[in-house]
Amino acid sequence: MNSPHTAPIRRHTSAIHYRIQPIHPAAHLYEVTLTLAKPDAGGQRFTLPAWIPGSYMIREFARHIVSLVATAGGQPLAVTKTDKATWECAPTTETITLRYQVYAWDLSVRAAHLDETHGFFNGSSVFLLPLGRESAPCELEIAAPAGERYRDWRVATAMPRKAPAGEPASARLSTATGLEGAPVLEPGGMPFGTFVASCYDELIDHPVEMGSFTHASFEACGVTHHVAITGRHRADMPRLCADLKKICETQIRLFEPETATAPMTEYWFLVMAVGDGYGGLEHRASTALICNRDDLPSAAPGERKISHGYRRFLGLASHEYFHTWNVKRIKPAAFVPYDLTQENYTRQLWFFEGFTSYYDDLVLARCGLVEPLSYLELVAENIGRVSAHAGRLKQSVSDSSFDAWVKYYRQDENAPNAIVSYYQKGAMVGLALDLTIRRHSAGATTLDDVMRTLWVEFGKTGRGVPEGGLEAIASKVAGFDLAPFFAQAVHGTADLDLAPLFDSVAIEMQWKVPGQARPDDPVPPSLGAKIATEANGDARLSQVFDGGAAQAAGLSAGDIVIAVDGLRVTGATLERRIKGHAVGDRLALAVFRRDELMQFEVTLQAMGAQVCSLLMRDVPIDAKARRNAWILG
Ligand code: ZN
Repeated sequence: MNSPHTAPIRRHTSAIHYRIQPIHPAAHLYEVTLTLAKPDAGGQRFTLPAWIPGSYMIREFARHIVSLVATAGGQPLAVTKTDKATWECAPTTETITLRYQVYAWDLSVRAAHLDETHGFFNGSSVFLLPLGRESAPCELEIAAPAGERYRDWRVATAMPRKAPAGEPASARLSTATGLEGAPVLEPGGMPFGTFVASCYDELIDHPVEMGSFTHASFEACGVTHHVAITGRHRADMPRLCADLKKICETQIRLFEPETATAPMTEYWFLVMAVGDGYGGLEHRASTALICNRDDLPSAAPGERKISHGYRRFLGLASHEYFHTWNVKRIKPAAFVPYDLTQENYTRQLWFFEGFTSYYDDLVLARCGLVEPLSYLELVAENIGRVSAHAGRLKQSVSDSSFDAWVKYYRQDENAPNAIVSYYQKGAMVGLALDLTIRRHSAGATTLDDVMRTLWVEFGKTGRGVPEGGLEAIASKVAGFDLAPFFAQAVHGTADLDLAPLFDSVAIEMQWKVPGQARPDDPVPPSLGAKIATEANGDARLSQVFDGGAAQAAGLSAGDIVIAVDGLRVTGATLERRIKGHAVGDRLALAVFRRDELMQFEVTLQAMGAQVCSLLMRDVPIDAKARRNAWILG
């Protein structure tokens, strides 16, 4: 494992120096100055990543560079763009300075954002890499925007601060030593200043938040963890810290049960609270999260129960924190090193994302934040989501991983019919593998043992996991050949046979039809399409499902349904009108496709069983014990 925070930086003279400042927050512009001594005398080239690790899609961040000028020895230097993301300077042996502006108006965890309320950036959106200097140490000066209104702004990042003269350059802020000491953090985060990274890869793996955010800290297994929340909110910070601490400690102990040692010396949860948003991106010593402000725990007195929204937030935090090991340190070989200019293909995202998804909720159960019954509800919901669409029967999670760049990350209206989520089905594969190993070993061996072996063999050594490597390690740890399991679960498209596995831990899996209260009630009819309500109230078919009534009648995604049997319908009434009929009824639908009025005759089909429930059985006792061992650890 790389240990970026402890590697001393010696080659000061060859460090790349970056300076970033929000120069015009209202116009969403950062200015970056890059100073490079000893450039490539034949013509130094600079490039910006096309994608950010953790989000597998080409995003072309260079398109947001607005203007760029170069100087050398105080004189203007000619610079030419040679491809979509690369600039080449005229030959010189003098120190080169680039000055450029970056437009930052993407309120997501993946890029950069700036306005008069706060700034956030990932280095991959703002810092050009001088080609050939990938391993050079970097210094980053983060400067506050000019103006009185920004005087309260602080910085939140896991990037190590540059040590004062006379101290080793690798020294951490004294705040990293914990809260029992005397934290020197100013209220609300750190002051602006200069930070260091051992190389470009580390520079862009520490996102930075700036503004007047809410800040709190806690210790988990001796490591200081910070929470910085931007955006209007009324979160109960002590409660949030207490709950996150349980998650962090449970995960640290999962990977290091003997020593409870975390792989980082400090960790930051950078949270953006908004009206409606959800997402997270993992980094080596931090995560950037975006969430609904209502999902954060309320500071209202007496509010103690964990709402669905808060459980969702904790699941997200748990997911990204688990990545600290799984994908940031245990990595696919295809990511060692990352090639940020183009797609990096791996068939293993079902493991790196799917198993992380399996553990994110399981950890909440293990540390007592969700009850076992609620945990089983989460598992059942996930199983129901995967089984709802035909794409699972056409694409394996191995293929879904490989094509993430053009399919999972670029979903269109046909996605339910064509693809399977390597998150959702990958989590089911994790569950099935865990229960298979537990059943075979009578509970003596578990998926935790597989994760720990991967951590020791790959995470700690920095070696990438080769394609097929996970399957080999799992068989070795489990003590029997799991090749048939992986052939079916990972490389095949048939549904996983989960019922016998649940049976081995005293859980019964049941399926129900949505809207059918009792098994002998009539089966509700289905149009076989997802209905969206347009801004003007129109009913639009946003997805048309394979094999369904709508598809059989010739309806398409995008069609606007205006009448059923001659009576007007809207987005609010179409579903109700369908439900008022019976399976086999024939309806005349009047539809606009583009501006053309069309008629279709639809024969309603029976709704398929899609709601999964997991019920705890009381016997036998040994299976019950295995169930508790699985859920509660
Ligand atoms: Zn993830």
